[in-house]
Amino acid sequence: MKRTMTCIECPQGCRLEVEADGSRVISVSGNKCKRGEAYGRQETEAPMRTLTTCVLTKGLELKMLPVRTSRPIPKERLFEAMWAVKRLLVTSPMKEGSVVAANFLGLGVDLVACRPLERQ
Ligand code: SF4
Repeated sequence: MKRTMTCIECPQGCRLEVEADGSRVISVSGNKCKRGEAYGRQETEAPMRTLTTCVLTKGLELKMLPVRTSRPIPKERLFEAMWAVKRLLVTSPMKEGSVVAANFLGLGVDLVACRPLERQ
């Protein structure tokens, strides 16, 4: 099976053609560098995404705190991650980059604050 995708590793946006047998990549073409090949393989075999969302707060200056995962997580775990985020509540002030949830979902990544948050 052939699949086309755009490499998002740099602004050149090379159009990649990935030939795969199921989720096993046979070849990647159209890339101008090795990062493109790695991207095509990763995106086909085990796609990853950085989760960016908001967590509910209580008694702080904002009702919602913007957060993101410290590194990309498997795309297939995003819905589970969103359900886990829904159950979180931030009640203390935070600095930008503070850990809101360590080892999020046991994936070895943290959920971190994207901005500082003060008391009301
Ligand atoms: S293949 Fe290389 S040059 Fe092309 S978009 Fe990806 S990173 Fe950029």
